[in-house]
Amino acid sequence: MIIADLHVHSYNSKDSLLKPRDIITTAVKRGVNCVAVTDHNTVKGGLELVKEARGLKDFIAIPGVEVKTDVGDVILLFVDEEVRIERFDELLDHAKSISAVTILAHPYRKHVMVEESARKVQVIEVLNSRSFKSANLKALSLASKLNKPIMAGSDAHTMFEIGKAVTIMEGSSEDDVRRRLLKGEVRIFGSESSPLVHLFSFASKIINEVARTF
Ligand SMILES: [Zn+2]
Repeated sequence: MIIADLHVHSYNSKDSLLKPRDIITTAVKRGVNCVAVTDHNTVKGGLELVKEARGLKDFIAIPGVEVKTDVGDVILLFVDEEVRIERFDELLDHAKSISAVTILAHPYRKHVMVEESARKVQVIEVLNSRSFKSANLKALSLASKLNKPIMAGSDAHTMFEIGKAVTIMEGSSEDDVRRRLLKGEVRIFGSESSPLVHLFSFASKIINEVARTF
């Protein structure tokens, strides 16, 4: 069985300090055997995760990216090179050409044209630990209205958020994750984090900025 946290940020995102190696250790401790690192507009963290997981048994590392588009954030999974596209439709075409899985991240946080965009992506994030419960419930009802596959992710930017929301499916390989996700053969489990987590992200941003100055 695969217990996956498919939305995690590493220090390659300005608002996180997490190192891929520590992400793996913490995930495994919590019974999470699959992680996708999906940093803001860079695949660096995802690739680092894959490198760190090399040789590990029973752990699936998925490189991803969370792209800021003109309709809002979109996650691409199974990406191994940088994506520098901001236009939503263009991004989806590109994703198709590189066989990436497209996910509409937390649809009710700063997105525009939500329903239209939701129809076009392959999967909808219906449980994001950093979203309000009301926003998650709206996302879930949108997915069910459109009959779209769903997923859950912690959107972790700190250690204690890892595994707060997981997508659970049968199987043991990266291919299983892709297939089950696209077929909607998953269950989701988890909860919303305390709003305090946003404060830690704010602090991380400052620490990252200071680190860059030195
Ligand atoms: Zn995120």
